[in-house]
Amino acid sequence: MFGEICCCTLLYVLFSLVIIFPPQEAISSGITIENLMNFWLGSESHSFIYYQIKRTVVTLIGHCICYYLPGYVTTIFFLYPSLIEILNSSYHPWCVQIIAAVSLFPLFVTSFVVLSWRKGGWKNHPLAQTIALYISPEKSLLSLTEEINNECFRIDKVSSEINSISRIIATENWLIKITSYKIHLIALRDALLVIESTQEAPIIPNSTSPAQLISIRVTSLKDSVKGFTFKVNSSIWGDLEKKLVNPVVNTKHLVIHQTLADRFVAVFEEAVQKNPKVKLQTEQDSCIGCMGVKANIVLDRRCLTVNDKSSCRQCSCKPMWCLTCLGKWFAARQDPNETETWLSSNAPCPTCRSKFCLLDVFLIEE
Ligand SMILES: [Zn+2]
Ligand SMILES: [Zn+2]
Ligand SMILES: [Zn+2]
Repeated sequence: MFGEICCCTLLYVLFSLVIIFPPQEAISSGITIENLMNFWLGSESHSFIYYQIKRTVVTLIGHCICYYLPGYVTTIFFLYPSLIEILNSSYHPWCVQIIAAVSLFPLFVTSFVVLSWRKGGWKNHPLAQTIALYISPEKSLLSLTEEINNECFRIDKVSSEINSISRIIATENWLIKITSYKIHLIALRDALLVIESTQEAPIIPNSTSPAQLISIRVTSLKDSVKGFTFKVNSSIWGDLEKKLVNPVVNTKHLVIHQTLADRFVAVFEEAVQKNPKVKLQTEQDSCIGCMGVKANIVLDRRCLTVNDKSSCRQCSCKPMWCLTCLGKWFAARQDPNETETWLSSNAPCPTCRSKFCLLDVFLIEE
């Protein structure tokens, strides 16, 4: 029986590890605590902060009940009822009861902590306490929570999975790291990012993204807010960097390999800045690509006056895109094997499909 119990223990440990650090297969098949408790958690996009508070609670209690001691003790005694007899007769008449009581101890402690968080509508939860550090005469806890919820709902946020249990999100004003039991949050105006190291990441087949992981330490200029560290793939580094308010510290001068498209967009933006600017009387709508900034680009076929062999065609589309989104669009329509021709090449207008080249892209003057 001893051998069987050891075997059962090993299986239980493996099972626990799968639940605590779920592999991609478990996540895609929906066997995660979040999915199982979906009915209580609600939707993350509907109310990000409230969802995360409840998710940390569910994860803590779930892990305590099922995957640590109580679940293990129940499983063993259920599978081997004769063990109860042996333990009670050979060691102590209350041996099993004592083991059961000890196994429930973490759950009692966790429940006590969760109940203390719950007071005043979760105001004592560590996440609510962190947000509370940013309360000012202009912004109450409620308005800050609303702001974070709205920003996390927006399409222009940068979100990247670090591993199966942690994620990093950068919104317009906040940098958030989500882990199983804790949510780190720092206002971007107070966030100081230091690049600590870079390492080659496993290459994803058929991916054009560079395989590099960047380790970053975030400290807060506000003393009361705790910092954290995270890793991010260099392919999203460009997007993340755009969200930052303070310059990134890279004292070790580490080289970050961005994607070819990212590098091209930077050159594209630089080239367009050199073109003449146009002044429009009308107010522009948001860019339909990112919704984050105003459309600031007009396409006008200037190249036709310079080169009559040009294949560009006049279009009369109204401004709908920002420079970065148009740069990404342009890069996506180029031949990856002929990068040296990208700048002199052309792409179809995203709306009417008539071709344009770099000479035809004009920034709208503010
Ligand atoms: Zn845009
Ligand atoms: Zn057009
Ligand atoms: Zn042209």
